[in-house]
Amino acid sequence: MTAESNPRWVRQPVSSDRPLLVHVNTTSTGGGVAELLHRLIPAQRDDGTAVGWAVVSGNPEFFALTKTLHHLLHGKGDPAPLHGTEAGTLYRSVLRPQGHWLAGQLRQGDTVALHDPQTLGLAPALAARGIRVLWHCHIGTTDGSATKPDHVWRFLAPEFDDVDVVLATRAEFGPPGFSRRRHVVTPAIDPDSPKNRPLTTAEVDALLTGIGLVGMAGGDDSSATVDQVGPMPRNAPMVLQVSRWDPLKDMRGVLRCLPGLPQDAHLILAGPDPHEVTDDPEGAVILAEVRAAYRDLPETERRRVHLVTLSMRDPQRNALLINALQRRADVVLQKSLEEGFGLTVTEAMHKYRPVVASAVGGLALQVVDGETGLLVDPTDYAGVAAAVRRLLVDRDLSRRLGSQAAAEVARRYHISRLVADYRLVIGQPQT
Ligand code: UDP
Repeated sequence: MTAESNPRWVRQPVSSDRPLLVHVNTTSTGGGVAELLHRLIPAQRDDGTAVGWAVVSGNPEFFALTKTLHHLLHGKGDPAPLHGTEAGTLYRSVLRPQGHWLAGQLRQGDTVALHDPQTLGLAPALAARGIRVLWHCHIGTTDGSATKPDHVWRFLAPEFDDVDVVLATRAEFGPPGFSRRRHVVTPAIDPDSPKNRPLTTAEVDALLTGIGLVGMAGGDDSSATVDQVGPMPRNAPMVLQVSRWDPLKDMRGVLRCLPGLPQDAHLILAGPDPHEVTDDPEGAVILAEVRAAYRDLPETERRRVHLVTLSMRDPQRNALLINALQRRADVVLQKSLEEGFGLTVTEAMHKYRPVVASAVGGLALQVVDGETGLLVDPTDYAGVAAAVRRLLVDRDLSRRLGSQAAAEVARRYHISRLVADYRLVIGQPQT
């Protein structure tokens, strides 16, 4: 086993007499799980848990395979790559040695939380050493007719024998036949983080002027690149979608809603620089497709669209820019085709933004239609545009939904609740 194939500590647990909890995922930057762990781990430490965070390594073939698993769990994509023995051999040859390495760092009685299917292959090596394994599943589909997740459950069946508890965002997510303990645990945000802390109007303006999105073109902040005909007028109504460049986020579909928006509204599509994200091989391809669709727009529409690509190299800066975009937006859209749970939606709701979200997966749980936002059918472009237009026009409705949304987030989706959920699960004896 070479050193490069070992997991990497993002936060090494401080050695302690108490049992350790170690979270494992595939990346420390980009995407909702990384975002969540950046806030959950310090909060768990403050709560008295001895906690660490490791990320697994993998080669491009491995991450292409795990992306297939990800899409299939959402009920999408082609299961063909899972047929035969090759995929299983690749998956286990990458993860089993890393499981042994991690087991060697821990003691019997410690707990490892494996996040999503990319890391589940560590389970056998950990369980063999008496380490308790939680599998935390952030993705899934609520489309009862989708059979594609079954391919993943069959593929991962050997690993589930070594899992003690499954945590999932919705009761429908996770392996159907799992007979040990399951808990429904929804993600959460940290209201005090750079991404969510209050910003003044002047701070928002300075951040967005800095990247050249408003004011003068070509601001001096190189932590974002903006594809645009020219900056957005300062007072223009702004519609925002923040997402990774992933087919299920349907950024191209958002562009197709543009003709149904008011003529003065500007649409901002913002996502991470895909060249900096190692575990998402599709990102660069999808961004190129979105850019091509943007270039094909008629000039009258193109001048109202701004594609913002954000560098993740300075995570603090990245978080502040997302915070500023969300606070400046008049409507925040999440037109995903499937979504386990959209942290971007909870972040926007926390900021009193009216949201329009697809009535799929976790989004349908996060947003109460007509109370804390509007739910739409993501395949109905005119319907999505009409919902956004309604909120841009009816400011009283926007204000009401926004303030109910913020109250709902404070009640259900703050990080302290997730810390308590984990405490409860870990505190319970193994069955
Ligand atoms: N995000 C970010 N920078 C970006 C784009 C997204 O920090 O350029 C964050 C976003 O604010 C959110 C997370 O990445 O916290 C995405 O989580 P979500 O649950 O919405 O989707 P996922 O990427 O996990 O599918």
